[in-house]
Amino acid sequence: MKIVVKFGGSSLASAEQFKKVADIIHADPHRRFVVPSAPGKRFDGDTKVTDMLYGCYDLAEAGKDFDGALADIKARYDEIIEGLGLDLTLDKEFETIHEQFRLKAGRNYAASRGEYLNGIVLANYLGFEFVDAATVIRFDDAGNFEADRTDLILSSRLKDVEYAVVPGFYGAQDDGVVTTFSRGGSDITGSIVAKAVHADVYENWTDVSGFLVADPRIIKNPEAIEAITYKELRELSYMGASVLHEDAIFPVRKEGIPINIRNTNKPDDLGTWIVESTCRKPKYTITGIAGKKGFASINIEKDMMNSEIGFGRKVLQVFEDNNLSFEHMPSGVDTMTVFVHQSEFEHKEQQVISGIHRAVHPDLLDLESGLALIAVVGRGMRDTRGVASKVFDALAKANINIKMIDQGSSELNIIIGVKDRRDKCCYRVQDKDSGSTTEKSFGEVER
Ligand code: ASP
Repeated sequence: MKIVVKFGGSSLASAEQFKKVADIIHADPHRRFVVPSAPGKRFDGDTKVTDMLYGCYDLAEAGKDFDGALADIKARYDEIIEGLGLDLTLDKEFETIHEQFRLKAGRNYAASRGEYLNGIVLANYLGFEFVDAATVIRFDDAGNFEADRTDLILSSRLKDVEYAVVPGFYGAQDDGVVTTFSRGGSDITGSIVAKAVHADVYENWTDVSGFLVADPRIIKNPEAIEAITYKELRELSYMGASVLHEDAIFPVRKEGIPINIRNTNKPDDLGTWIVESTCRKPKYTITGIAGKKGFASINIEKDMMNSEIGFGRKVLQVFEDNNLSFEHMPSGVDTMTVFVHQSEFEHKEQQVISGIHRAVHPDLLDLESGLALIAVVGRGMRDTRGVASKVFDALAKANINIKMIDQGSSELNIIIGVKDRRDKCCYRVQDKDSGSTTEKSFGEVER
């Protein structure tokens, strides 16, 4: 049995946290491959090492003095090394980093040092082999991750290694140029390593006890989801539930390796299992709810639209020509609405409007901005009656007007479009324990 364990930044933010991590790893000898993030926040208001590195590098690139900023970063690591009583110094590594910053080695290189250095410290502390991700995770010249090549290189590199630490978040191009995934990308590295070593489980250790059924900033103490399928997770992550990087499921999904989200601070909690499929009956019909703001809709009307073959294709062609992806496209007999991300759409709106006029000559076209989407996701909804009715009833009781509804026949999710009216409306916070609800205006919590 092989387990790949990834620890997030908050799990490795201080010597205290490192000790918890080591206890978890030593508790099971199958935990053989460890993927660390860079040290995260130790307390509210603290700065993640990755952000410190970006800031420091920006000074270097602007030709300003960055010695103090780099010394602050080194102090973070020295504090951990000292707290763990290790016989280790990162002086040499910091000399190299200083030199590379001076030579303007790039922001990717700068950010990657957070994981690189943390990997060295963790490997030293655990007595595991350190495998620099730059030697095993491959990107092409354009900076795109090369999955197949990486899998070959990484699996042969780790074939005979019993215990190793592979830092997350970065890799390199063939010419050695260090490249990173997007923020939170250590989750992806963990998944890549799990695939390469044919792990039985990919454990992703963080600071929450799994995926929660709802946003804890809105619902107090929401329950953790016991088991969720890859598909459900995609829907919820896409809509803003952010425990795991969106792309982290792809490598393990190909191998059918389950992901177990765990809490470093509560290692006895079972966390959430993310699986390909399960015959375990979901505890609730709805697995989770998530929401996202910042959408706009383009509403198109034309008499006899229904009989005009190719109408939809012509409209969508305009979006494609403007390099815009669309989110949802509900339609009526003579109406069609296209939902897009407002930020992507805003600066192209006039081209899109004129493009649609030229393509389909609508009777009416109008735009609406400031929309939000709510996703109600659950494999248990399939063939279950009454779910939509309960959801809509809840919205009506909260005095929220529904602008759009989208549910595919897979019945995995119901997407609801609403106006994002934080200023005008309020929402209810429900206390799970007592069941009582209180009303709050949107200004009351940071969203
Ligand atoms: N340290 C990187 C970040 O803060 C990557 C990660 O933590 O996964 O985004």
